[in-house]
Amino acid sequence: MKEVTCLCGWQCRGTEDEVVEQVQAHGREVHGIESSREEIVAIAVEVAAPAASVDGPPA
Ligand SMILES: [Zn+2]
Repeated sequence: MKEVTCLCGWQCRGTEDEVVEQVQAHGREVHGIESSREEIVAIAVEVAAPAASVDGPPA
């Protein structure tokens, strides 16, 4: 799971694809900028998935 924090304090989390989509929409709507996937992936940080996730390693 990835997390991105914008300079304005806005945050989003999700899969890489979800984060890229959300950050692009946020940048466009709030800041009027277009961000490339590469830029977004570069600032995204890996965070632990929620406990309910089925993707995690077995307990
Ligand atoms: Zn922002």
